[in-house]
Amino acid sequence: MALKSMTPVSFEFFPPRDTAGREKLTTGTATKLAALGPEYFSVTYGAGGSTKEGTKQTVTDLMNRGWNAVPHLSVGGTDQQSTLDLVAFYKELGVKKILCLRGDQAESDAHNPQYAEDLVRLIRQHFGDRFEIVVGAYPEVHPDSASSQDDLMFFKRKVDAGADVAITQYFYNIEAYEHFVDQCQSLGVDIPIVPGVMPITNYASLRRFSEKAGADIPRWLDKAMAQHQDSDEELGKFGVEVVTRLCERLIELGAPALHFYTLNRWGATTKVCTNLGLNVS
Ligand code: FAD
Repeated sequence: MALKSMTPVSFEFFPPRDTAGREKLTTGTATKLAALGPEYFSVTYGAGGSTKEGTKQTVTDLMNRGWNAVPHLSVGGTDQQSTLDLVAFYKELGVKKILCLRGDQAESDAHNPQYAEDLVRLIRQHFGDRFEIVVGAYPEVHPDSASSQDDLMFFKRKVDAGADVAITQYFYNIEAYEHFVDQCQSLGVDIPIVPGVMPITNYASLRRFSEKAGADIPRWLDKAMAQHQDSDEELGKFGVEVVTRLCERLIELGAPALHFYTLNRWGATTKVCTNLGLNVS
């Protein structure tokens, strides 16, 4: 029996490489996922601005179809004026929310480190309250951080600079999220902290990605995924069960929304959302 969930959801895409890929994304994946009534689709921004045009185009395609789109934007790889021009473009397009990130740093950035906090401040300074600002959060601690205490303090600074809501890196240890939210509350950081959810569809790529992102795969989960890795069908079925249970527990804990890292696929995300009792029209 599916749990009837009123928890809002959002779905993340990366920008396809070309027009055909964008067409496939909007007419295929996004159309399927739109049936779940998401709050918005977000579109990633390649490291150092490498997908700037692709992100802009994909956001435009989604908005033109009447869906809310949230561009990710990172500092680095461009000058301040170009960043402001891009934000002005999004303003004209009717974008209401922007996800502000530092992004992964290039070596050339090392002499002049910039952080997501700087981008939040820049947008607030030039655009006031025109946009709702989203930032990233790391319940399992950002991989560059010297300590969880430092990471938390820097997270608080992003919020103090004007962030309205945070989305976390994905995790499979629910206690990490619980602990992070508790710590934020004890520091008086009271913005909604939306869990990022990564569906399980491919064992090897999930392991690779998690290592880079500093996301822990618990031993029991790793062993179970390894056992199912030779059958996409079995791994998919197992993954949907695990991720549904994780989302149910997050909803019970009072998660304000769920943000799915779809990797431009709709199957696993739709199954999880259907299990959660979200309407599929
Ligand atoms: P920040 O908040 O700037 O923090 C980065 C590191 O610096 C942390 O270790 C932090 O503790 C530390 N720090 C922060 N401020 C200071 C300071 N003032 N002094 C010293 N240290 C400081 N990456 C992409 O390239 N494109 C995307 O589209 C993208 N989307 C994402 C979406 C979400 C929801 C999340 C959670 C991550 C996403 N990422 C994306 C990954 C993200 O860019 C990387 O994790 C990046 O390394 C950190 O970005 P941030 O905005 O969290 O950084």
